[in-house]
Amino acid sequence: MIEINKLHKSYEMGSSSLHVLKGIDFKVEAGELVAIMGSSGSGKSTLLNILGMLDISDQGTYDLDDIRIADMDEKKAANYRNRFLGFVFQSFNLINYKSALENVALPLYYQGIARKERQKTALNYLDKVGLKDWSLHLPSELSGGQKQRVAIARALAANPKVLLADEPTGALDSATSREVMALIQKINNEGKTILVVTHENDIANMCKRIVHLKDGVIVEDKKIKQNIIKDV
Ligand code: ADP
Ligand code: MG
Repeated sequence: MIEINKLHKSYEMGSSSLHVLKGIDFKVEAGELVAIMGSSGSGKSTLLNILGMLDISDQGTYDLDDIRIADMDEKKAANYRNRFLGFVFQSFNLINYKSALENVALPLYYQGIARKERQKTALNYLDKVGLKDWSLHLPSELSGGQKQRVAIARALAANPKVLLADEPTGALDSATSREVMALIQKINNEGKTILVVTHENDIANMCKRIVHLKDGVIVEDKKIKQNIIKDV
């Protein structure tokens, strides 16, 4: 599904350069639930942004679903991103003046899907995350956990091959974090490939594999016994 080799990334800042990813190799198979762990500043978001085609590496290769991601023009990259990748962020990134339903339907609009079909699909995904009755509410009327569930429904609406979540529980209390991770586990059990960036051990332990980044290199990559959340 995902294969990267010898990936490097530096940020240029004036005359100096910050080497953030220093030769990353890893592979993700379809159906995995992988935590990318590491302390703040270790390069997790940089790596996820490259995997999400929101940024490009300086060196190394990236294959997504057997297609080499390199030198694509922005239009082709955007098309790819929309078809293959779903994103969830710590800060939800919902559009404040649009209802939950409209937020979830938006990626379908960009895929050129007709309005009726968009609304039906969006409602199905809201139902899937337990928010069917909240479809007409604005983000400001939802709790943090509900907002993140809307964001997950939006990320899933276009049926991406991979879901990329950058600190999805970073703005939530621990009980709400468990709810969101229970939903991520459910979606993964239905077959979706998911990568979760986190700096929290207990969140990483709810995944099936932990890739530990430190100072821009992978220091550990292991399958784990997943902490399955049952009591939500
Ligand atoms: P993490 O997500 O693990 O906290 P990041 O990937 O966000 O780490 O950042 C890794 C390092 O790169 C940090 O030192 C950060 O300050 C720096 N960095 C991230 N994005 C940029 C950028 N756009 N320009 C310059 N430096 C950046
Ligand atoms: Mg980060």
